[in-house]
Amino acid sequence: MIEEKTILEQPEKKAETIKPLGELLVTLMSITPQAEQVIEQACRTCYLSFHRFNPPASTEELIKKILKKGHHSVLEHAHATFRIKGGSRVFTHELIRHRLISPSQESQRYVQYGKTRPFDYVVPPSVAQTPFAERFKELASETQQFYEEMVKGGVPKEDARYILPNATTSEIVITANFREFRHLFTVRCTPFAHWEIRKVCIEMLKIMKKEAPISFYDFVVNEENNTATILPPEESKG
Ligand SMILES: Cc1cc2nc3c(=O)[nH]c(=O)nc-3n(C[C@H](O)[C@H](O)[C@H](O)COP(=O)(O)OP(=O)(O)OC[C@H]3O[C@@H](n4cnc5c(N)ncnc54)[C@H](O)[C@@H]3O)c2cc1C
Repeated sequence: MIEEKTILEQPEKKAETIKPLGELLVTLMSITPQAEQVIEQACRTCYLSFHRFNPPASTEELIKKILKKGHHSVLEHAHATFRIKGGSRVFTHELIRHRLISPSQESQRYVQYGKTRPFDYVVPPSVAQTPFAERFKELASETQQFYEEMVKGGVPKEDARYILPNATTSEIVITANFREFRHLFTVRCTPFAHWEIRKVCIEMLKIMKKEAPISFYDFVVNEENNTATILPPEESKG
């Protein structure tokens, strides 16, 4: 019997998985307990081959086999939940395009910048090191002041927010199954993905590689350029 527990109830484990990324913070809130054994047992139901359940060896062998064969639906039996703080609305908009991710995001209808929480924004690295950085910050600050002026003047937050920049940070919690995380990492950890979503996805991938090492074993992280690639099945034997 697999014990029903989440990482939220294990503070020492949760602390391990918090990774500050400059101003970004990616936290694993919860993951299916004994996720890879759940996947194995679900998969073994197809063949009623429970007599072969002998972890960790049988788990590794079976999950690697199903990854190679493309029998990925069994990965849907395991889920993970992440909290991401300090990412921009640019990033969250890209993230929520992934339809199989369940998001809960702070609402600009209910949250009041300067009151519920401070106004905060992301300066992209390509701007931060240039003479444009100062003007970027000035405009962000002016925008914030005008937002506050409008709210004080009676404009509802839900309408005053129209003036806020894409750079505004937005807290989000996402839940997805392992199959969707593999898809997310495949398309968002490549050099073609935008730097911010790539940065968050690489961090989530590193955590998932630690928490579910077999299910994500074929993703190779390149620390130098902050990307990850997925090995083709013929190269990922093992
Ligand atoms: C580098 C890059 C550049 C991009 N540029 C743009 C852009 O310029 N403009 C733009 O609008 N978007 C852009 N996108 C977003 C992209 O078009 C997708 O909306 C986003 O990546 C979600 O991908 P997805 O639909 O494969 O995945 P998800 O929504 O996460 O779905 C996962 C998988 O489930 C299956 N699935 C989900 N829903 C359905 C469905 N309704 N029917 C059938 N199968 C389904 C598919 O196999 C899908 O791959 C870009 C994405 C990337 C990675």
